Amino acid sequence: MVINIPLEYCPENKWIFLNELRGVEEQMVSGSRSIDAIMLLDACIGSVVESDFVVSKSASLTIPDREAVLTALYENTYGPKVETTVQCRECKQPFDIDFILSDLISSLKPNEANAGKEANGFYVFTTNNGISFRMCTGDDELAVMGMKPKQAEEVIISRCLIKGDRKKARKEIPKAMSQLAPLIDVDIDTICPDCETGQKFHFNLQSYLLNSIIRDKKLLTFEVHRLAVHYGWGLNEILQLPRSIRHNFLSILETG
Ligand SMILES: [Zn+2]
Repeated sequence: MVINIPLEYCPENKWIFLNELRGVEEQMVSGSRSIDAIMLLDACIGSVVESDFVVSKSASLTIPDREAVLTALYENTYGPKVETTVQCRECKQPFDIDFILSDLISSLKPNEANAGKEANGFYVFTTNNGISFRMCTGDDELAVMGMKPKQAEEVIISRCLIKGDRKKARKEIPKAMSQLAPLIDVDIDTICPDCETGQKFHFNLQSYLLNSIIRDKKLLTFEVHRLAVHYGWGLNEILQLPRSIRHNFLSILETG
């Protein structure tokens, strides 16, 4: 299934089209950094529509727009819920956590609407102290890969700063960005059902999605083997199947 996602932090009503995950994309995920997310999204971006309104490179997305695309990819792959098991930090017993991803995202949304002014393909935001900036993109993150964290942050701020004092910008821009578009990188309050100890579960959408795909890669080998043995299909043919279709064939085999 192809899904289309409107980009909220990119002017001119742009969209991205995303194909369903196939084995060939699942197989290539090996980490949970931004570059891993960018490579995965680029492999999933659909080319069914060629239009000035359609974005075809995920590195050009602002971070909040990339998170919206990753959310859509998560929901298309795993459904609306996040379901996981954690170990209690007190009694060490495992317990289940589940929540609806869209509910979590709605709870993070800022009250104020996006009030950026369009300039050169970006929304430009201005703080009360006159610092004008654009949102950070994947291209900015790729440009600082390999740098030490402090240097990387400084380079990103100077790339995103449009107008204003650099010193002030260093303080204000990160705060202003997270107020305008909070990342899906939060601590969720939970209580262990066994010993009733309250504790936090850290949820970062990008790393949760990428690590879920990495975890499933172990199953992928068995799934490919099963389909190859039963239908006589080649490796490439099976890896090109959309994940839901691959799973449909496997459930037919399971139910006999
Ligand atoms: Zn416990």
